[in-house]
Amino acid sequence: MSLQYTCVDDIDEIVKTSKASFEERQVEISKFKSPRSQDLKLRLEVLKSLYYSVKDHEAEIIEALLKDFKRSKHETVIMELVVLYNSILQYIKKLPQWIKPEKIKESSALFMFSNVSVDRISLGSVLVISPFNYPVLLGLEPVAAAFAGGNSVVWKPSELVPNTSRLLEDILTSEVSSKWLKVVQGAVAETTRLIQNPSFDKIFYTGSTKVGAIVAQEAAKHLTPYTLELGGKSPVFITEHFSQSNMRAALKRIFFGAFSNSGQTCVASDYVIVHESQIKLIKELSKDVLDEFWPLLNKETDYTCMVHETAYEGAKKKLERTNGTKVQPSNVAAELSKNCLPPTVVFDVEWNDSLMKEENFAPFLPFVTYVDLDDAIEKVNHYHKNPLAMYIFSADKHETELIMTRVKSGACMIGDTLVHVAAQDAPFGGVRQSGSGSYHGKWSYSAFTHERTVIRQPFWTELMNGVRNPPYTPSKPKMAQA
Ligand code: NAD
Repeated sequence: MSLQYTCVDDIDEIVKTSKASFEERQVEISKFKSPRSQDLKLRLEVLKSLYYSVKDHEAEIIEALLKDFKRSKHETVIMELVVLYNSILQYIKKLPQWIKPEKIKESSALFMFSNVSVDRISLGSVLVISPFNYPVLLGLEPVAAAFAGGNSVVWKPSELVPNTSRLLEDILTSEVSSKWLKVVQGAVAETTRLIQNPSFDKIFYTGSTKVGAIVAQEAAKHLTPYTLELGGKSPVFITEHFSQSNMRAALKRIFFGAFSNSGQTCVASDYVIVHESQIKLIKELSKDVLDEFWPLLNKETDYTCMVHETAYEGAKKKLERTNGTKVQPSNVAAELSKNCLPPTVVFDVEWNDSLMKEENFAPFLPFVTYVDLDDAIEKVNHYHKNPLAMYIFSADKHETELIMTRVKSGACMIGDTLVHVAAQDAPFGGVRQSGSGSYHGKWSYSAFTHERTVIRQPFWTELMNGVRNPPYTPSKPKMAQA
């Protein structure tokens, strides 16, 4: 299916209308006795309409993703829809609390008799740009967060999943008010026009580090604030002191992180750094675990493919070039679905291997061995600094702390991989090359609001203000310090 792109010349007008809708809404709610209560009511309404627009069309969404890249039905449910529902429901539940000004206990004596609070106010009209790999969750979770913050949204879904992007546009334009949401379809030209528009009050971008830098440059021209959720190579450490009795379970957790969505996951376990004393057991167990996960891999298996032919060809070449030893499940059919690559564990890999250059974003999992942990840490920091996530399998607390102290990462899981994405009350985001800013839970609300300090001053304190007012006589500095 080809996707109808929005005409580039219409984009500025769409942005203008989105901004105008926000401003009109502010005027409307200001007419109510309690503008905040009215604002809350409208935000809850739009969040509910977003929730039901997805929930009521679940089967069609699963089908669209299947058409786009043979996305596993099970993965669509557990890795996109359930997580999205939980997030929207959490926003609906917590919003009445979040929208209230937060009272501050100010320690400066100057405000001893003041009423100090932080009011998280809407930003205005925000741009959300999303990637192809989890197009429902990574598109609509920020959209929901922006709604929770009271903003109007222009959403640019990914052009690489045309069936899903078209379907979501159709559903949302009929079920969510256009005063809250506008959808712009397109690729580089359309996104460029959007990010060059000076009217946005925020850009929330999820995608590659390379494009993230372009977004940041354009945003800087108008001082538009942004959140960048980017990529990177997330390492897994299996250290000398990890208990061998847990190795099979560990491999299951690591393979789940590496091969879900055929490796097309920003926080995939991208490569494993393993102490040489552990590699023998890992080699013995790996084939077994692959066979347990995929007793048969053929066209009928519920297994995701690469997003398009270019990604497929690029990944295939990368795998052909590796000098490592490849291990795949035992029963892989000779003919798989179009653009499908089997899960492949690769042993005996060196740091200069084709699989160790950039984010793999394919179902490959290279293993490099180390002897000296300091040396392994230096290699990570030299080749792939500031990953989006890091995973540690170690039974030694000090060893774990040592890695965590020396390797900066967006997130860190000890004893598992990938599932931290579903944590609802913890921030999700990268660090430098892997992103800036975060969202999820109350961090989503912060990402889409401005923290305005509000101080109410009583008048009965006027007598005490003598010290700050002219004339500045020699005794005044002493009074101020008293
Ligand atoms: P991408 O950067 O190619 O595309 C993302 C969005 O940017 C799309 O909507 C696309 O139309 C737009 N875009 C592409 N090139 C552009 C350009 N030159 N100028 C302006 N806009 C442009 O990313 P992708 O291939 O869709 O997704 C994969 C990448 O995203 C991986 O690097 C992955 O790690 C990252 N990612 C990060 C997260 C996260 O939460 N941190 C989540 C998912 C994916």
